[in-house]
Amino acid sequence: METPILVIFVDAYPYADSEPLAKKLNALTYKKVTPGVGYSINVKAEIFAKLKPDEVGYFCEWIYNKEKVHKWMTPLVVQILTLIGSINNFSNRVIHKLVRMIIKEPIYAIPFDVLPYLKNAGATAYEYTFKKPTFLTKLNFTRVLYSKVGVNDEKVFREAKAVLKRDMPKKLFVSTAELDGIMHYYGKGSDEYNKQIRLIDKNIFELVREFNEIHGAESQYFIFSDHGMANVDEGVLFDIRKVLGKPGKNSYSYFIDATFFRVWLNNKELKCKLIDAFDTVKQGHVLDEKERNQYGLKNIEHGDVIFLLDEGKMFLPSFFGNTICKAMHGYDPVLESQQGTIISGFEFDKEVVNAYQIHDLIMSCETT
Ligand SMILES: [Zn+2]
Repeated sequence: METPILVIFVDAYPYADSEPLAKKLNALTYKKVTPGVGYSINVKAEIFAKLKPDEVGYFCEWIYNKEKVHKWMTPLVVQILTLIGSINNFSNRVIHKLVRMIIKEPIYAIPFDVLPYLKNAGATAYEYTFKKPTFLTKLNFTRVLYSKVGVNDEKVFREAKAVLKRDMPKKLFVSTAELDGIMHYYGKGSDEYNKQIRLIDKNIFELVREFNEIHGAESQYFIFSDHGMANVDEGVLFDIRKVLGKPGKNSYSYFIDATFFRVWLNNKELKCKLIDAFDTVKQGHVLDEKERNQYGLKNIEHGDVIFLLDEGKMFLPSFFGNTICKAMHGYDPVLESQQGTIISGFEFDKEVVNAYQIHDLIMSCETT
């Protein structure tokens, strides 16, 4: 017989702060979820499709692309755009906004001379645009997605309750994202954060109860997140151009994320110089071969060199702009602050739950 399953995904819900909800639900399982490497886009691919970066084919949203994606970006166009952007911060923001509107891509503050060789490739695993199989597609879940309803948890839960009442789906998936943004903007432990946690807990409790009432005792629920977050205390500057000169087809390309600095070397002779320069940055380290193997980041296409910052640090500037967030994720996955949560009425015998194992846990619940 088909098991009725309710899955609620709360982006960035930290393990430590989800204990009251676990208690309120009398959950049989309340455990840490150790995220995979990188940001939500990759952790979601691990959770929903059991695919690490090497398997899903991307690491972070923007990846290196040897073939020029924007053919119109000739050297002259790049030069003109760069010149306008170099006048001051304001003109840089305006010209990026303008180009963003024209090419209809979220190019943030990516320098124009590296943009031609970068591609926005990441796909969110629970969206319909994600083409690889997930537990959502395999078990044919009805989805209530924040991307359709809006980044407003109250609205998302209202819609989920309405769908449950109206269609009574045996498999219901709900995704929320407001908490992630609130933590980035206001910080972990802020009043806004605590208020949002209360709103989420109340709504989840109600939704689980309603699902249970409709589908009976054999129904299961899973509430989980992709990661926790750490408050940020320092911006870190790394000016690669001072070390390696101008980026380009015959030298190197790069991307500065919030906590990762990825470099693709078209000229491999630059590697030693780059590693020496990264060694002087005391707030992080270059991922070694062992770490890359363990994270599923073996493929060199993710970057010849990948530098990861320590907890609480952020690159400033990064390709996302000239500011730092109050809190961030995407650090070493084993850090306490980075632990996501899983709460369920289904009992797991596993000591630790890695993001990568959630897919099989949910699939196994269906077949028992
Ligand atoms: Zn986030």
